[in-house]
Amino acid sequence: MHCSGGDEKFSGSLHLMGRCAHNCTDKKTLKRKKPIPGKVDDVRASGYLDAMKSSSPPRNKLIKDFSNEVASSENDATYNSWLMKYPSALTAFEKITNYAKGKQIALFLDYDGTLTPIVDDPDSAFISPSMQATVRSVAKYFPTAVISGRSRSKVYELVGVPELYYAGSHGMDIMVPVKHSVSVDGHISYVRSTDQWGKEVNLFQPASEFLSMIDEVFRTLVEMTKEINGAKVENHKFCTSVHYRLVDEKDWTMVAQCVHDVLKDYPCLRLKHGRKVLDIRPVIDWDKGKAVKFLLESLGFSNCNGVLPIFIGDDTTDEDAFKVLREGNRGCGILVSSLPKESNALYSLRDPSEVMGFLNSLVRWKKSLAV
Ligand SMILES: [Mg+2]
Repeated sequence: MHCSGGDEKFSGSLHLMGRCAHNCTDKKTLKRKKPIPGKVDDVRASGYLDAMKSSSPPRNKLIKDFSNEVASSENDATYNSWLMKYPSALTAFEKITNYAKGKQIALFLDYDGTLTPIVDDPDSAFISPSMQATVRSVAKYFPTAVISGRSRSKVYELVGVPELYYAGSHGMDIMVPVKHSVSVDGHISYVRSTDQWGKEVNLFQPASEFLSMIDEVFRTLVEMTKEINGAKVENHKFCTSVHYRLVDEKDWTMVAQCVHDVLKDYPCLRLKHGRKVLDIRPVIDWDKGKAVKFLLESLGFSNCNGVLPIFIGDDTTDEDAFKVLREGNRGCGILVSSLPKESNALYSLRDPSEVMGFLNSLVRWKKSLAV
């Protein structure tokens, strides 16, 4: 692995953010609208429904398929051939640790679907005591960050391991130690703050100008979707999301229409499809990939040759980080998936229990080096 050069760091159009946010905040507050079941042209034409249907297979279909012996063996064959392209990080463990020889491994972990299984109610996605112990253990040996779509405070509360670094809102809210100063487009963009123990930290929040807009959109969506059974809107501080995992499929058009109607009035916001969730976030040149580069510098790893970053994640937003690591041969992306799908990751793990196995193997390997 080698570094392709440090000139790409944080390049882009962050300076455009302010203008965009101000233009949008000038607009009048959205009127509360109710979903109109018959009005589906917009959402069909815009491809919302197709993307929603393909975002992840319905769970009952999976259970049915896997309880059927023939379908199961077909699925296994398909999965096994997919593994040729995205080898299991467990079977390729030696190869991965060979890359890490003479380097410091830095771990970047997604939360939902990576450290915990995907559950119907996002409020119930609790980390298991064994996974929590594993994460605490890896953090003793490797600098470890969790980068989640949830708000930073929420993901900290869920993981509950103070030794980690935390980035919320898909990397748009990063708390880092004070010791390493990183500039974006030549400007120091931190806000000095204190963590829950009163220790000085730097906060990097590239979408801070969108805070009130996101809150407004969140409240609008809560109102608009309140009569759609199972719909759940979450405020992640710098982004918001609408979960439809528990919504009857016949009502998905209403969910899509609500989000579509809101986004029409906020050109500075965009939609990204996740696993049974519609993510609404600011149009800024920032994503989990840039957050990884930023964290590496903030943690003192500006020299790419001395570090092997490993990112483990399961969703579309994690692809930006996989891409950054793949380009320039910087590190390893590991996709968590029990179903074959195209990815920028180099390796795969089937589910969170395999993630735990991989992380524990890393700890054993590191300990063995010290003997
Ligand atoms: Mg995830």
